[in-house]
Amino acid sequence: MIEAVSIIGSGTMGNGICHLFAQYNFKVNLIDVSQDALNKALATISRNFDRQIAKGTLTDDQKIQALEKITTYTSIKEGVENADLVVEAATENLDLKLNIFRDLDQYAPEHCILASNTSSISITQIAAVTNRGDKVIGMHFMNPVPVMKLVEVIRGYQSSDETTALIMALSINLDKIPVEVNDYPGFVANRILMPMINEAIYTLYEGVAGVYEIDTVMKLGMAHPMGPLQLADFIGLDICLAILKVLHDGFGNPKYAPCPLLVNMVNAGYKGIKTDEGFYRYTAGSKDLIVSEKFKRS
Ligand code: NAD
Repeated sequence: MIEAVSIIGSGTMGNGICHLFAQYNFKVNLIDVSQDALNKALATISRNFDRQIAKGTLTDDQKIQALEKITTYTSIKEGVENADLVVEAATENLDLKLNIFRDLDQYAPEHCILASNTSSISITQIAAVTNRGDKVIGMHFMNPVPVMKLVEVIRGYQSSDETTALIMALSINLDKIPVEVNDYPGFVANRILMPMINEAIYTLYEGVAGVYEIDTVMKLGMAHPMGPLQLADFIGLDICLAILKVLHDGFGNPKYAPCPLLVNMVNAGYKGIKTDEGFYRYTAGSKDLIVSEKFKRS
């Protein structure tokens, strides 16, 4: 039975996952490296609850109750000692995640399930640094977590049937729709999405069409709510590049080679919304789509 959930990392995904579990009445321990990051996350969660209140999907009392469920920690050791489930949502970096899972294995109770929200890092590799490979699993939420219905549940090589069934059932209790997939590079979501985004960037790089034209074809022609270049900006171009590298290394197939334009943009610090510029410029907000000067067509 899962009552207490610890979330590692309080960034974009961690604060969304915290929001979700608190709203569904779990006791939540939110852990990050600094109190400053945790305070920012609590402010974001509070604002996002207010949006739900404005829409009429949450009451003021429910917001107060949910916020009371959250405790913040800057130490993994203290933050996981009572946990039944940990969901790791720290920065997408292999060594960082391996160190976190070594700590989790040491400090979390023996029965505790250790889940990762990684977009691309192998669950099997993460599980291998613990002594509880059967209890390690991928629980891949989508951004923004309180809104998006899908949870990609990733079975590592050693994940047990029991752990998988428990995470599938838990996702349903959180009003999400889980799908079970196996642990191969990019899982399902990013294995299919990232080659499409990469191809859109190649289409731009080769001068076949401009940013506006490429995104418009995919929005109006394929009924995608966002064009692939806008979506890449939203995800973060550095994250897209990291996932493409995992696909390229993992399959050894040149079809996954990241487009040189993507590599240049990341190296130059143009990472999308989080740096205010990628394929579009976001200095005036993210509502009006303004194509970056770099890609303005004469
Ligand atoms: P982010 O950069 O917004 O947040 C990461 C947080 O982790 C930061 O607050 C950082 O301080 C914290 N952190 C770093 N090291 C830590 C440690 N040792 N202990 C505790 N906290 C630590 O990143 P994000 O976009 O929220 O991504 C988090 C994870 O979720 C990544 O694995 C990413 O691949 C995955 N993911 C991201 C998205 C997305 O759209 N951004 C979607 C699905 C999955």
